[in-house]
Amino acid sequence: MSYKTLIDADRALLWHPYASMVDPPPVFPVASARGVRLTLADGRELIDGMASWWCAIHGYNHPVLNEAVSTQLQAMAHVMFGGLTHEPAVSLAQKLVDVTPRELQAVFFADSGSVSVEVAIKMAIQYWVARGRLDKQRLLTIRQGYHGDTFGAMAVCDPVTGMHSLFNDVLPGHYFADTPRVRFDEEWRDDDVKSLKTLAEKHHKEIAAVILEPVVQGAGGMWFYSPEYLNKAREICDQFDLLLIFDEIATGFGRTGRLFACEHSRVTPDIMCLGKALTGGYMTLAATLTNARVADTISAGGKGVFMHGPTFMANPLACSVALASIHLLEQTGWQQRVNNIQRQLQAELGACRELDNVVEVRVLGAIGVVEVDRPVDMHVVPQWFVERGVWIRPFGRLIYIMPPYVISAAELTELTDAIYHVVNKLSHQL
Ligand SMILES: *Cc1c(COP(=O)(O)O)cnc(C)c1O
Repeated sequence: MSYKTLIDADRALLWHPYASMVDPPPVFPVASARGVRLTLADGRELIDGMASWWCAIHGYNHPVLNEAVSTQLQAMAHVMFGGLTHEPAVSLAQKLVDVTPRELQAVFFADSGSVSVEVAIKMAIQYWVARGRLDKQRLLTIRQGYHGDTFGAMAVCDPVTGMHSLFNDVLPGHYFADTPRVRFDEEWRDDDVKSLKTLAEKHHKEIAAVILEPVVQGAGGMWFYSPEYLNKAREICDQFDLLLIFDEIATGFGRTGRLFACEHSRVTPDIMCLGKALTGGYMTLAATLTNARVADTISAGGKGVFMHGPTFMANPLACSVALASIHLLEQTGWQQRVNNIQRQLQAELGACRELDNVVEVRVLGAIGVVEVDRPVDMHVVPQWFVERGVWIRPFGRLIYIMPPYVISAAELTELTDAIYHVVNKLSHQL
């Protein structure tokens, strides 16, 4: 199919994420991807600033990851996980238990990040049911969060940007504390956690767990808050008998400068969700990890089993590539790479601060954010980036990048130059 035919057929047939079928913004057909470059179907090359939404940390078409998939394919693509097991699942589970905080010991594999959040919520509720507490079924979280698009996950997303009004009658009602305001490297102020504490104090009898994206709120606003908030949240959970769930789907596997964002704090959650970069961007796979207390309680009380079991649970291809991706991460000095990206983003995106329409520039690990003063027009701005030879997809007032860790300094400069150019162009459009 030609470039043009692809676009026309796509428009006629396909939904894209959060898009209209009637007046969709432009899409760009990709023919292949290698390293940090996407090759469009018309031959143009783009440097990738998005890592396909946090996932492709090693870049695309990586020989080691390709090899992991093809070797596993020779053995089997998939078998059911009910009553059967296999080495890819066992080895990956062992690895995840080894690299995550020590108390997390039991692994549940799911097919996507949203499902791993559903699983985490069900675990928390089943834990309390097993202890005879049928009244603890609600969740406590913070505003501006994002935890996925399925109903359970959506119910803990920010009530305004998460579109709760659309689904009001079918969404469970949860409790929302104020967004943390103390920034990542600011001095801690105790009043930042007051709203969370007040809600916990008042409603703990109905609350099963607190769920948070540690340190980085992703799709809900690309906001970086103080790790001390997590320490305080843990204290509150312990004080009021609440489980603590960390959604590390976006932050896991090095993105914030630590292997997991919770390592910026002293906290181990009771339940932790992983996804996105888990397979290095090759396949959809997520995991929900929990500690012995939660696993044993669920297994001992009530039904005595955990009530979830996806058809494609622990898919061997996905588990194999995930294991290879974690090994690769460990062998390729990710920490140095992420530190270098952070330093370069701080230096180069900082230039945007001189532009009138820039509200703020924020950098943490391999994440760079330029917040502008009004929503970006998605019918034109992605096209401007493509014309500059880069792939950057803003949302709302946020122009942000989280490139593959393997990006070179020169390639990263192309991304930051493109951002400066586009933000500058927007500032002259007012
Ligand atoms: C992307 C994301 C999810 C949802 O994951 P999917 O794989 O898209 O279902 C959940 N939580 C966070 C923090 C995410 O960034």
